[in-house]
Amino acid sequence: MMQNRWDFSKRGWARVWVLTVLGTLLCIGVAFAVDSYSFSTGTWVLRESAINNLVIPLILAPPLLFFLLSKLRELAIAHHELMSVAATDSLTQLLNRRAFTAIVEGYLERVEARQAPPNGALVVIDVDHFKSVNDSHGHDAGDKALRSIAETIRAQVREVDIVGRMGGEEFSVFLPGATIDVTRAVSERVRVAVHDVPSVPDDPERRLSVSAGGVVFARPTTFPELYRLADAQLYTAKDNGRDRCEIAVLDAAGARAGETVA
Ligand code: GH3
Ligand code: MG
Ligand code: MG
Repeated sequence: MMQNRWDFSKRGWARVWVLTVLGTLLCIGVAFAVDSYSFSTGTWVLRESAINNLVIPLILAPPLLFFLLSKLRELAIAHHELMSVAATDSLTQLLNRRAFTAIVEGYLERVEARQAPPNGALVVIDVDHFKSVNDSHGHDAGDKALRSIAETIRAQVREVDIVGRMGGEEFSVFLPGATIDVTRAVSERVRVAVHDVPSVPDDPERRLSVSAGGVVFARPTTFPELYRLADAQLYTAKDNGRDRCEIAVLDAAGARAGETVA
């Protein structure tokens, strides 16, 4: 991985070097202070013992501080990697359900705290008749198809959008700031793009499809409320024949269903 030389985070080298220099200067300062203070008379007399105050701190402090700070940096990197493994779905490399939920909840709380006008959308995407892919072509082919669908979804959304695998063959996309038009367009793009994902390599004619349920919000809300509404829309899409998107709107007047794209 490329390292940014000015990375002052706990994982960066810049922090190690800067703190080593500052720590060394502090040690020199403390050495001067201790050397200049007369404990018997309680007075300060500036002493200029270069050996005590400069050479010894310069020999001891930099390697010691550098060693300790490097170890702290390694710990920070290990912690970061552990956190990202804990947040990642191992099959698709998308966020797992817990991480996705936590990020969306964090976003909704921040919007509420800033008293900014809340808007955005949650879209739940479920693969149609996915059980039959496993049944007819085996679990490995099913896993491969799930990975391709995950890549397809990721490719159809913006960098700022959050994509997660909620479990099984169900995915979620959170679109911060999205309007109904953007949500409809993104859901539809994903739906159409999935048609190009072959369900199995030896059966290119057999195409996959997804159904999507979405909710666009324009008032303060919570993740459970959004998920419940989006899931209800997903069920409507399934009931209405699959391979379609149903988007609801949640605003001050309440939730209104009925935006169909197919
Ligand atoms: P529907 O259109 O109603 O959603 O039908 P479906 O067959 O997709 O839904 P159902 O809930 O009946 O089946 C989901 C299937 O997804 C069952 C399970 O075998 C499969 N599945 C869930 N997780 C995984 C996985 O990680 N890998 C594979 N290969 N299959 C999975
Ligand atoms: Mg399904
Ligand atoms: Mg499902």
